[in-house]
Amino acid sequence: MQHYDVLVVGAGHGGSQAAIQLRQAGFDGSIALVGDEPELPYERPPLSKEYLTGDKDFERMLFRPESFWRERDITLLAASRVTRVDPAAKTVATTGHGTIGFDRMIWATGGQARALPCPGGDDAAVFAIRKKRDVDAIHAALADTRRIVIVGGGYIGLEAAAGFRKLGKAVTVIEMADRLLSRVAGAALSDFYAAEHRRQGVDIRLGTTVEAIERSDGAVSCRLSDGAILVCDLVVAGIGIVPEVGPLIAAGATGGNGVDVDRACRTSLPDTYAIGDCASHANVWADGEQTRVESVQNAHDMAKVVAQDMMGEEAIYDALPWFWSNQYDLKLQTVGLNIGHDEEIVRGDPGSRSFSVIYRKAGRVVALDCVDRAKDYVQGRKLIEARAEVDAGALADIAVPLKELLP
Ligand SMILES: Cc1cc2nc3c(=O)[nH]c(=O)nc-3n(C[C@H](O)[C@H](O)[C@H](O)COP(=O)(O)OP(=O)(O)OC[C@H]3O[C@@H](n4cnc5c(N)ncnc54)[C@H](O)[C@@H]3O)c2cc1C
Repeated sequence: MQHYDVLVVGAGHGGSQAAIQLRQAGFDGSIALVGDEPELPYERPPLSKEYLTGDKDFERMLFRPESFWRERDITLLAASRVTRVDPAAKTVATTGHGTIGFDRMIWATGGQARALPCPGGDDAAVFAIRKKRDVDAIHAALADTRRIVIVGGGYIGLEAAAGFRKLGKAVTVIEMADRLLSRVAGAALSDFYAAEHRRQGVDIRLGTTVEAIERSDGAVSCRLSDGAILVCDLVVAGIGIVPEVGPLIAAGATGGNGVDVDRACRTSLPDTYAIGDCASHANVWADGEQTRVESVQNAHDMAKVVAQDMMGEEAIYDALPWFWSNQYDLKLQTVGLNIGHDEEIVRGDPGSRSFSVIYRKAGRVVALDCVDRAKDYVQGRKLIEARAEVDAGALADIAVPLKELLP
């Protein structure tokens, strides 16, 4: 039986970073990174951006070349899935590598793309965008594709819409809520992106959902809840993820929506940590509300905390969340969490395609969404860190740099 001092499950952003951080911190025990994808560990954000449009080669998405992992003595067990965890014996069952023992384990498995729950949701014309193989499958189908329906008006669906428009495809976005990005942003940002996508030729349908995906004479059609029928060649589902925590929960770990972790990212199982998209934690930037954050920042910063904790340093996860999204020529940068905000202030003119939305909660600045306003992003994050209470009129005044509003 193979045995490692640290077994990292999931070779994505969090898992790879945890192994790298451990070596950087001087950890000299054995480390294995077991992941169910066949490729070397790679960046996921380009999948819905430059990799989708063919503007970035896969080699440029690798975190590190193969030699890096070898030289740091990090064993990569690729194309292998952990199917069972025995917390008492400290072993996992895997596909391809049998039973593996560990002293300490880091669970960094992210989530799998949520399947469309309607009849026909598993049709061969329906694709996700979560892994390299998903986008490769889309690429293989693109030559015969003219019309694309995207289900889900979140960041991934909208980035894909922009990418497909660049490739000259006819694109329709179906969103169940009455506005885009409703889970993550306020109405001002939603309205801006709806107008922008429409201007770019995307057909945006709000307040409706796909009830069935049907085929007749080889043609695919989406039947919507508002009665519309959209004939298309390809469907992309961007409706969120389901955290990959089945084996951990079956082994007795506390959780529900993901697996619960404490401030040092420890699960309720002995010597078992969880990080990244699958880790449900009390986020200090959401007033301690239990949440999962799906971002590169969260995966990397949690990985760092775990490496520090394993090295015996005191570490707590309290990093300020940030995120980005690229659509067309627009660069959105977000910082903070707007969960529970009670006010949104628009700073600048959305019509100029350069503006920010500032979220306040009980008078405090808690988050910003900055569209091509890098200065607001950099200076605004200091207002959040300072937990500053700033007058709404001052925040809206673009003549005043945000740094001048710091208390
Ligand atoms: C298309 C797309 C675009 C994105 N764009 C952005 C962006 O612009 N900015 C941003 O901040 N974030 C973005 N994200 C989110 C970001 O990529 C994730 O938050 C980040 O990858 C989370 O890291 P993770 O380690 O938790 O999970 P992942 O990176 O998903 O890695 C998890 C790995 O574990 C594997 N795995 C799952 N279960 C098992 C198992 N049982 N055994 C072995 N292996 C397993 C998975 O296959 C996967 O390889 C994007 C995500 C996607 C999909």
